[in-house]
Amino acid sequence: MQIAIPTERSSGERRIAATPDTVKKLLASGHTVTVERGAGRWAALPDEHFAAAGATLADDFATTVANAQLVLKVRAPEAAEIAALPEGCAVLAHFDAWRYPHFALLNARRISAYALERIPRITRAQSMDILSSQANIAGYRAVLLATQYYPRFMPMFMTAAGTVKPAKVLILGAGVAGLQAIATAKRLGAVVEVFDVRPATREQVESLGAKFIEVELTAEEKASLENLGGYAREMSADYQARQSTLIAKHATQADIVISTAQIPGKAAPVLITTDTVAAMKAGSVIIDLAVDTGGNCPLSRADEVITSENGVIIVGHGNLPALVAADASAMYARNLLTFMGLLADKEGCYAPKLDDEIIVATRICADGQTLASDLLAQAA
Ligand code: NAD
Repeated sequence: MQIAIPTERSSGERRIAATPDTVKKLLASGHTVTVERGAGRWAALPDEHFAAAGATLADDFATTVANAQLVLKVRAPEAAEIAALPEGCAVLAHFDAWRYPHFALLNARRISAYALERIPRITRAQSMDILSSQANIAGYRAVLLATQYYPRFMPMFMTAAGTVKPAKVLILGAGVAGLQAIATAKRLGAVVEVFDVRPATREQVESLGAKFIEVELTAEEKASLENLGGYAREMSADYQARQSTLIAKHATQADIVISTAQIPGKAAPVLITTDTVAAMKAGSVIIDLAVDTGGNCPLSRADEVITSENGVIIVGHGNLPALVAADASAMYARNLLTFMGLLADKEGCYAPKLDDEIIVATRICADGQTLASDLLAQAA
């Protein structure tokens, strides 16, 4: 296959979908690879490294993708990019398909789209799981970002000039990002409390040395709590009211709140209300990892830092993995390389394994049609 790796053009995106290491492996499997000049600049991957690995370098997006059968991207293609893609090629990316606006453009050019965020959470797919690899980085970086704005120490200090108490960190959501945030905050010496709507996360939280706080559940709620795949589901208004009281109680005592709660394919749940923010301490910090899907705090704004009237600093960084672009790219690129094992035959020709559940879940359009039934209305 002819494989293209263009520069990412979305604002603030610093990652790249391949590294010299993965390029070497693609070439060894019989593919040819073209990389756009400068595509790895922000991920500490200069053009010479790609050239040394055997890639051809091209000057712009159109030349990079000109003859491509497969285009590897981090973000889903924008309208102008789709116009330059060869008809009938395939694109691998984090499409954020539930709110992707360009299905008609893809279908008009008969482009096959693989939405990698839809890879099922099954053991066989762990090494392809872009959500996990990137959420892990986001959780780590969120804590470091908090330390940048928090005007005090994280660990306890006993000095001749007095004793400093450790920071109290409240983490909302104990998925992949939340668990890494716990581990990172603990390493920095903070005292950590955690809330998640899934009681099954308690054990993982406690094994990292954090305290799990919980809402009392009715029997019916217990039974309905988990969807297939272990994701959270939307909860009743009554549950949300109890949850809100619990979070408000703990957030007002916290120095840092890191919120990571997401519902797949939906807007993020509101967990830190404006009333809760109004009752929090001056100088406390909220890092809202869900800002990109509406935010866990209604006051957070994508890529902005807001200080509330009572002095709470609310940070809404929409793309934390891009701040660790080198490692984020390396992990993402390895995820894609494994996924490509399902796309090529032994001769290296494009031959997706159409009966494989991972391909079925991710192949959202092909041959001029939207295939994912949940996206049909949106794509019309
Ligand atoms: P996510 O990003 O979808 O959500 C983050 C966390 O927010 C989740 O733990 C979720 O329960 C929580 N949350 C949602 N609504 C909430 C609310 N109202 N209040 C508090 N918390 C709320 O999660 P994720 O990191 O993508 O993980 C989702 C699931 O997938 C987990 O069960 C995880 O263990 C599982 N997983 C499996 C694999 C695998 O087997 N291949 C890989 C990664 C993750």
